[in-house]
Amino acid sequence: MCGIIGYVGPRQSQDILLAGLSRLEYRGYDSAGIAVIDGDGQLDMRKRAGKLAVLRDDLESTPMPNGTTGIGHTRWATHGGPTDANAHPHLADDDKLAVIHNGIIENFAELKSELVGDGFAFRSETDTEVAAVMIGREYARTKDLVQAFRSVVSRLEGAYTLLAMHEDHPGLVVGARRNSPLVIGLGEGENFLGSDVAAFVEH
Ligand code: GLU
Repeated sequence: MCGIIGYVGPRQSQDILLAGLSRLEYRGYDSAGIAVIDGDGQLDMRKRAGKLAVLRDDLESTPMPNGTTGIGHTRWATHGGPTDANAHPHLADDDKLAVIHNGIIENFAELKSELVGDGFAFRSETDTEVAAVMIGREYARTKDLVQAFRSVVSRLEGAYTLLAMHEDHPGLVVGARRNSPLVIGLGEGENFLGSDVAAFVEH
């Protein structure tokens, strides 16, 4: 289980996410990624296998739009090797939804075969993408992100800290935890989520 950070507030989030992930590096990891909802209300995502420096270099050479709502992740692979495709965030609902996850979803194989049977395709070998696709499917049906997230996490077994955001809801990051830590930082006009307080302690 590695690192998670989420941010909602008035500040541009990319630097907050990258700084938070760098303070979580001590936990060990093999890949890193971030997603933000930019000023035009569009979700942008970048993820890379390897050290955080690989992601930083990539963002410096090909900048991504910034935004005030964002999530960041460092991964320690449990399901699928340390590749760009398996790194988090995982996208669903026509790439409008981004999900990050620490932990292991023990019943992912049975949930995945249900989704494959319904015609959903997968871009990674992770257990996490199964949760992302399920949340996307439920959101597409209900248009209620909190309810979609809640109904999916209630079907997941194992250990998880999960964060999700959707471009229809530019000021919202939803989170849940089970057998895995999630710390909430309530600020003035801004809020943080982290797998560890180190993620946002400087704020
Ligand atoms: N089980 C997930 C994966 O393999 C998350 C691992 C983690 O906690 O970083 O992608």
